[in-house]
Amino acid sequence: MGKTKLINVPSVQIVDIGDQGMGIGKDAEGKVYLILDAVPGDIMDIEVKMRRSRVSYARPILRTKDSTWRQDPFCQHFGVCGGCKWQHMAYQGQLEYKQKNVFDALTRIGGIVQPVIRPIQGVTEDRYYRNKLDFSFGNRKWLDSSELDQTEEINKNALGFHRPGSFEKIVDIQHCYLQADPSNAIRNFIRSYAFDQHFTFYDVKLHTGLLRNLIIRTALDGSTMVTIVFGEDLPDQILMLNHAITKAYPSITLYNIINLKHNDTIFDQALHLIQGAGYLIETLGHLKCKVGPKSFFQTNSLQAGRLYRFIEEFAELQGHETVFDLYSGTGTIGLFLAHKAKSIIGVEEVREAVEDANINASLNLISNAVFHTGDVKKMLQEGLLSDAGPDDLIILDPPRAGLHQDAIPILLTSGVRRIVYVSCNPATQARDLKLLSSAYRHVMSQPVDMFPHTAHIENVTLLHLI
Ligand code: SAH
Repeated sequence: MGKTKLINVPSVQIVDIGDQGMGIGKDAEGKVYLILDAVPGDIMDIEVKMRRSRVSYARPILRTKDSTWRQDPFCQHFGVCGGCKWQHMAYQGQLEYKQKNVFDALTRIGGIVQPVIRPIQGVTEDRYYRNKLDFSFGNRKWLDSSELDQTEEINKNALGFHRPGSFEKIVDIQHCYLQADPSNAIRNFIRSYAFDQHFTFYDVKLHTGLLRNLIIRTALDGSTMVTIVFGEDLPDQILMLNHAITKAYPSITLYNIINLKHNDTIFDQALHLIQGAGYLIETLGHLKCKVGPKSFFQTNSLQAGRLYRFIEEFAELQGHETVFDLYSGTGTIGLFLAHKAKSIIGVEEVREAVEDANINASLNLISNAVFHTGDVKKMLQEGLLSDAGPDDLIILDPPRAGLHQDAIPILLTSGVRRIVYVSCNPATQARDLKLLSSAYRHVMSQPVDMFPHTAHIENVTLLHLI
């Protein structure tokens, strides 16, 4: 294997799209290629860059037919920053391929014959849909070709996203379509103030530099929380920056964190509240949630509300059920359903998320929900479901890896008539459905698009005891 000399292949048909945004093409002999800047429906002549036995990597030399799904990416940073990898495909096309992805996973991996899959729920807002973005400051700016050609000295300080594949480089973001204003305005204000004052930007190799990370959270009501993480403790400069920001943005919540460690995590770091209430109140459908600077939270609030309504529909609660909300995060699924059930029992391994779940229960005056900190597999093994009756409900919302395999036999013998399995990875969900299929049959799935212009898919699946 390995590199061979470059070859050209004519008339390759693009038949699918991969999660990194590369088109998947087939030549006349059925050989498969992963191709840069290719959209399903395109036909193109390609140059093979790297040959492998199963799939080769290629780039287009001549596009002889344009897919009807092809569109010009709307973001100036497309292809460089690493986000929104499907932006060169029309949104309707993206939805079609996400639907296909769920179908392929359920049939090929799950072995489900003719699964009932409802049409994917798309978004109403395909831009500015995230409520949280993490930006990094860095002194190694990713330079575009015009900057590389420039002869005079360029300012290498940047504020934006890490360049995938060369992590110490920062793509300097001028406008990001992922988060509503004032996100772009605040980020650009801080960058320009820092330039004016000659503040230093973080050096990831030397671990020096004042400005390190910037986390911006926004809520649907427009309220905003900004957390600035400093890599050095320089009180005079920090004070100046805080003063400038609070003067320009008097109604935001502003936090400072001084992080002198080598890693970027802020969970073990002290928070200093500079201005504002200190938290946001976000709405997920009828639920109000308190979101602090360290909270885990659904990143697309509007669409999460829709996702939860599908869960509610599949749950068909009558009011006498105990709902086991497994992998409960900040408890939002269980709390969303609490008014329709007798009780909610949540299990989540991250202690801080469980604390948020309890705060959110009080905020919504919900008294029939308890959240346990623990490992789902362990708690199942210790008899979490031993009192579960057939009318009770299990909700599963595991991380991308899917269910722990030791959890499967316990779920199989739970006797609970209905399971609602929410997944952000149709492949692992399909694997788990196959493992559960001796006792539970697939009734239907509802895919939901939470992240337009990316390959991510959320799939809600209803299972019935056979
Ligand atoms: N249901 C939540 C979040 C689901 S994300 C919501 O709708 O927002 C998956 C969650 O599972 C994460 O919060 C993660 O911390 C948790 N988790 C991962 N592995 C776990 C395990 N083995 N036991 C318990 N929780 C786990």
